Amino acid sequence: MCQQIAEGVHYRGCSHFVVNFFPVSIKDCNQSNCTKSCRHPANCYNPNCTREWGPVIDKCSAMSYEKCPNCTAAIMAYQQQQQQRAR
Ligand SMILES: [Zn+2]
Ligand SMILES: [Zn+2]
Ligand SMILES: [Zn+2]
Repeated sequence: MCQQIAEGVHYRGCSHFVVNFFPVSIKDCNQSNCTKSCRHPANCYNPNCTREWGPVIDKCSAMSYEKCPNCTAAIMAYQQQQQQRAR
């Protein structure tokens, strides 16, 4: 089963992986019974051949010690809410 590779940033502050590019490349399983593989014959219509992608591989292109943009935005929104309540 071939796997798609996603490239992104790993944020250690919240241990989230944020994908920037998907798919950047394909990890070919080299199985002739997998329709995604380049080994698979183009004239094969066997319904038993694998059609699905395997689990996505997270390829870390950069690492940050901060929190990811989603978590940062969520914390900011929460803090703003708290400030508004304090008034
Ligand atoms: Zn494959
Ligand atoms: Zn096939
Ligand atoms: Zn996060």
